[in-house]
Amino acid sequence: MITLRGLTKRYGDTVAVDGLTLDVEEGRVTGFLGPNGAGKSTTMRMILGLDRPTAGRALIDGRPYASMRHPVREVGALLDAKALHPARSARSHLIAQARSNGIPVRRVDEVLETVGLAKVARRRAGAFSLGMYQRLGIAGALLGDPQVLILDEPVNGLDPEGVRWVRELVRAQAAQGRTVFLSSHLMSEMQLTADRLVVIGRGRLLADTPMADLLAASASASVRVRTADPADLSGLAGRLRAYEGVTVESPGGERNEIVVRGRTAAEIGDLAHRLGVALHQLHSVPASLEQAYMELTEHSVEYGAAASPPPPVSDGSAPTATTEV
Ligand code: ADP
Repeated sequence: MITLRGLTKRYGDTVAVDGLTLDVEEGRVTGFLGPNGAGKSTTMRMILGLDRPTAGRALIDGRPYASMRHPVREVGALLDAKALHPARSARSHLIAQARSNGIPVRRVDEVLETVGLAKVARRRAGAFSLGMYQRLGIAGALLGDPQVLILDEPVNGLDPEGVRWVRELVRAQAAQGRTVFLSSHLMSEMQLTADRLVVIGRGRLLADTPMADLLAASASASVRVRTADPADLSGLAGRLRAYEGVTVESPGGERNEIVVRGRTAAEIGDLAHRLGVALHQLHSVPASLEQAYMELTEHSVEYGAAASPPPPVSDGSAPTATTEV
């Protein structure tokens, strides 16, 4: 488990990380999200003892990273995949890490096999592609068979097969009871990978929540409602519209279906029951992570474009054409 308590980092006038308090628990994949400059790298660097907090603390299984005798055996980290000597081979790079942490050389060959670099293990790492660097970085993180993995943008530069491989790898690690904390800017991938999300903006905590709760609570989440009788539906729509914060649309002008935002399926079902309306369908459509993330961080973007482009089209589960009922 990673424990942050009031974790703060200031660089002069810049507050990079502002009083973060949270637990990253074992047995699940926790995604770490935030706009550029939000403080993700600084947080990870403080967890790994590479930056000193201005205030607060970051502990791994109750201890600071710097106090660990063989840190690579307790925490596997990938911060910057290209941070290695370009003239060294992948194998000699890992052997150096293994030796300094009391790890046998056969483990190096094992992890090279795991990440798919066994065939190029003796080649100069300087000639590697970004995807190969990432695989080597992940090999380094796995080297000590640690209980905690901290991965900054591990899928950056990987091809679709590589992205899927990282997803399956980290999910398997979490399923074995390990702690996995990873950042990524690829929202659709994060949606498939993480169980829980920590979102920060301008150094502050914006959300620390299970993925499913974030998607269900988003203003973009909707409920599709169908009745047999269009008159019933329009009565129900009228009642729903009277509530503050509720929108009601009819996708593609359908007469017997509405899409409701601002109320849960349970609330709509209860209302229909009270009105004596028989429902033929009541279907929750969660938001995409991209939609939920954009809503959450819209006021925390440090480096935004001057005019926002229109919101991205969703994953196809939401209606594409809508008209007011
Ligand atoms: P992220 O990883 O979320 O993009 P960072 O942790 O890199 O964000 O940066 C958070 C803030 O701290 C940014 O405003 C950045 O400019 C600033 N920052 C990060 N490192 C330093 C540093 N060494 N010196 C001064 N400012 C820094």
